[in-house]
Order: sequence, then structure tokens, then C-alpha cells
Amino acid sequence: MVSQRKNFRVAVVGGGIAGLTLAISLHHRDIPVTIYEQAEAFGEVGAGVSFSPNAVEAMKFCHQGIHQAFEKVCTRNLWPSKQDVWFDYLDGYHTGTSTTAKSASRQDIAFTIRNSLGQNGVHRAHFLEELIKLIPHDIARFNKHLETIVERESDGKLLMKFADGTEDEADVVLGCDGIKSQVRQLIVGADHPSAKPSYTHKYAYRGLIPMEKAIEAVGEELASNACMHMGPGGHMLTFPVNQGKTLNIVAFHTTPGEWSDYPRLTRQGTRDEALRDFAGYGPNVINLLKLTEKELSVWAIFDLGKDPVPTFYKGRVGIAGDAAHATSPHHGAGAGFCIEDTAVLATLLRDKRVQTQGDLEAVLVAYDISRRERSQWLVQSSRFIGDCYEWRAENVGQDFKRIEEAINYRNGVIANVDIDQMCEHAKSILGKKLTCVTKASI
Ligand SMILES: Cc1cc2nc3c(=O)[nH]c(=O)nc-3n(C[C@H](O)[C@H](O)[C@H](O)COP(=O)(O)OP(=O)(O)OC[C@H]3O[C@@H](n4cnc5c(N)ncnc54)[C@H](O)[C@@H]3O)c2cc1C
Repeated sequence: MVSQRKNFRVAVVGGGIAGLTLAISLHHRDIPVTIYEQAEAFGEVGAGVSFSPNAVEAMKFCHQGIHQAFEKVCTRNLWPSKQDVWFDYLDGYHTGTSTTAKSASRQDIAFTIRNSLGQNGVHRAHFLEELIKLIPHDIARFNKHLETIVERESDGKLLMKFADGTEDEADVVLGCDGIKSQVRQLIVGADHPSAKPSYTHKYAYRGLIPMEKAIEAVGEELASNACMHMGPGGHMLTFPVNQGKTLNIVAFHTTPGEWSDYPRLTRQGTRDEALRDFAGYGPNVINLLKLTEKELSVWAIFDLGKDPVPTFYKGRVGIAGDAAHATSPHHGAGAGFCIEDTAVLATLLRDKRVQTQGDLEAVLVAYDISRRERSQWLVQSSRFIGDCYEWRAENVGQDFKRIEEAINYRNGVIANVDIDQMCEHAKSILGKKLTCVTKASI
């Protein structure tokens, strides 16, 4: 079937995972789209990101090329017997008192969480490099920091104004501009509590360790396959990236203190500082931390959980990805939910009933109804599960059985969704909203 090119123009603000997957999906559905990115080129910071089964299904739904890009750069657990293991969960604190950790490591596994795909990690920059190949160069405008959007009275076009003094226009603007989203501020108002994210009182040290060193430190099983080392007020996750040549580690620490440097969400830290935060932990954790670089980047974990966004749109301006539902990373699902957003938005914008500016507003109403509840649940659930890993969650504590049950139940909610059905449902909401719009205009 030949698809008809849409005669409206979509502006996507921000070129992270949300913006890029959206632009790819729209471009390949014959919908005119331009990305406006504030940086001088596409780029991702940080090392590993992993995807659960719902995210991988959403990739396939959005565009096969996105899924192929993921397959090309993804690293799974290295052991064939662990291909369905999401994480082995370990007591990172009490056990493993041997200093030659090889012998101590295995016995620390408290339980194992599995899913249909097991653990898979991509290096963010490598994934992005592959995604960029799926769109023509002229779709992207760089050095474009969006400041404001106004509607032109004469034809209803949305005028975007950028920090460099330039302007451009579109029929619908989708803010994929991340956790500190300017588009969110324009939708809810700069003084609204949800305009800015809040600190979850956790920060994370991130490091990369050569695989052979990691094997020496914790043994082959724990180094080659994804592990979550739990403890009181801290936890450390590890999984192989870079085709198994490197071990990615993220070590979270909970603190009553405030993050002193908002709006910066990262700062330079040190290995010594990390070792102080994890003092008293078992050798698996300590031995791995000792192998990190002397200087480590520290990430503040902010989210939109304290003050959830009351709406994902205003008129023909919408938000997706972290701009809409920035979450702490404890479910490893934030980026996957960006791709779910993309699947729904691309489906709705491609719908043949969508032609006019009024229809575009109905698209965003349907998107908001379809996506807000699920993605805001993720934000709350992620906070809770992060506390489970640190033996702090109410009615769970250090009870490993309960922690395991909580993870399995919540991971099920995340992974066991039918993306086709989600998009069909959004289309049925769109049908009702379009009828309302038509009736109102008669
Ligand atoms: C430590 C950590 C680990 C994580 N691990 C996982 C994981 O394993 N699995 C998972 O699914 N998720 C994970 N996440 C979450 C995931 O990284 C995010 O959900 C995802 O990357 C968000 O993508 P995004 O495109 O919405 O935002 P971003 O990646 O933040 O992209 C926003 C883009 O918008 C641009 N921009 C910002 N403001 C403007 C403006 N005004 N004008 C123009 N451009 C602008 C920025 O330059 C940037 O390129 C993790 C997060 C953290 C912090």
C-alpha cells in the first residue's frame, strides 16, 4: 500500500533516545519531521543502557532498523546458561568474607530474576551511532536551544524561538528534551511544581572495568553476567558491555543530604569517596570498586515522582520520554518507555483520520490518556524497587523472598505489554476525541 505523505510538519525538540526514535519512526511513516537539538551534534553521556522485552517489542513496532541497530550493538550475559537471566541478586553486604573472592562469590546469589530476553546492554554512544544512520542528515538542526513557542494567529502555525535568535515553524511540537525539559515548563508553567524534577536522595558512581580484571576480582560467573549487589542504603549493579570486553558498573548510594548543584546533574567524584560510601560491604563490591578509575563521574538521581506532570500536552505541544516521565533507573526501563511513547505517537500521527491542526490536538489528547498513567506508575515503582534493593522499602525490608516477589510482579507489569494493543487502544481513544472535535465544530 502506498502511504500518503502527511501535509503537516512535526518538530521534535531534543535528539536523545526519545527524540531520535520518534524522528526515525515519523520519517519512515512519511510524516515530515525536523529535530532541533541544542548540542552541536547528537551525543549520549554515560555508558550502558539495557532494555526489557517491552522496549524491544516497541523498537520492532517503531521501525525494524531501530531493532537491528540494537541487535548490532547489544551485549547479553556471556554465559549461554544465563541467556534468560535479567539479574542475579546478591547479598553484597554480609557474605563473601573471603578476600580471594572467586570462591566466595557464587554463594552470595540470593535469587535470580529472569525474563524472555535476559539482560542486554548497549553502549549508549554505539546505539546512537547506529540510530543516526536511519535518518537523512538534513532532518536535524544543531545548536538550537529552544526557548519558547508561540502560536501565529493567521494560520495557527507554532513558532519556535531558539537561543541563537532564529525561529522555525511547525504544526505540532514534541518536546523530547529530557529531564530538565523546557517544553514541559512551557506546558505546565515555569512555577508549577512539576516544571523541575526533584532529587530522590540517591546518587550513583558510574565506571567501566576491563573484563579480565573484573574476572580476577569476582570470578568469571559474576563478572560475565548481570548482577545486582544489594546492601543497606546502597546497591551496585554490574553488566557486561562492549561485546563482553568491559564490565559496566553503577553503584548507588542513598543520602539524607541535598544535591548541591542543580541544574547540573553530574559531578566529578573519586574512587576513594565511593569506597567510603560502601565501607563495610563484602569483597565483591569492594574489589570491583577498587578497580574503577581514580576519578569517577557521579550522577544525581532526579525524577518526576514527587510532583508528577498533570498533563503531557497543551494544545499542539506535547512531551515524551524523560521530559514527560523522568524516572530513577532502578527498573532499567526509562529509555524503553521513551520508545513506547514513540510507538504510540507515531501510530496516532500516521492515522489516516489525522489531517488538520484540530486533529493534531486530538492526537495529543489520546497520547496523554494512553501513556500518562503507565509511565507515572513506572516512576513511583522505580523509587520503591530502588529502596527494596537497599533493604529500606516499607513492609519488605531485608526479606529476600519479598524483594524477589516485588521485582517479579513489577517487572511483569513493565515487560508483559502488547505494544500493538497499546497502539490500537490509543487509536480508539483518538477516534472518540476526533468525533468530539468534529461535533464541536458543526
Ligand atoms: C544512571 C542511569 C542509568 C539508566 N539506565 C537505564 C537502563 O538501563 N535502561 C533504560 O531503559 N533506561 C535507563 N535510564 C533512563 C534513560 O537513560 C532515559 O530514560 C533516557 O535516556 C531518556 O532519553 P530522552 O531522549 O528522553 O532524554 P535525553 O537523553 O536527556 O535527551 C534529551 C535531549 O534534548 C536536548 N535538549 C535539552 N533541552 C533542549 C532544548 N531546550 N532545546 C533543544 N534541545 C534540548 C539534550 O541536549 C538531549 O540531547 C538510566 C538513567 C540513568 C540516569
